[in-house]
Amino acid sequence: MPEEKPRHLLGIGEPEDIMDGVRLGCDTFDCVAPTRIGRTGTIYIHTQEGIRKTSIKKSEYARDFSKLDEGCDCMVCQRYTKAYVSHLVRSGEILGGHLCSIHNLYTIVNFTKQLRESILRS
Ligand SMILES: [Zn+2]
Repeated sequence: MPEEKPRHLLGIGEPEDIMDGVRLGCDTFDCVAPTRIGRTGTIYIHTQEGIRKTSIKKSEYARDFSKLDEGCDCMVCQRYTKAYVSHLVRSGEILGGHLCSIHNLYTIVNFTKQLRESILRS
């Protein structure tokens, strides 16, 4: 492929896999992972080790009134608590999966935006 053409990597959506793709020269990505896992209540959270996944259905979140992810500024994290979203998902309310998906998409888009900015600074 010509060097100046962008490289698209299809089906790669996990943060560590995106990092690997960037290291290999890929420019764009798309994947259903953030919404697929979000529909069942799995969310990305920022940790000291990076972005990790957790299930909002865990019992420890049932009375956790903190935001979904302390490292996130998406509209879900600004408005809803882990306890509320956990309740929605465990009750089978479709809104729970939607909120998790919105948060996950924001997390991945923001992650790739930070990668892009890091590359441009180097
Ligand atoms: Zn969020």
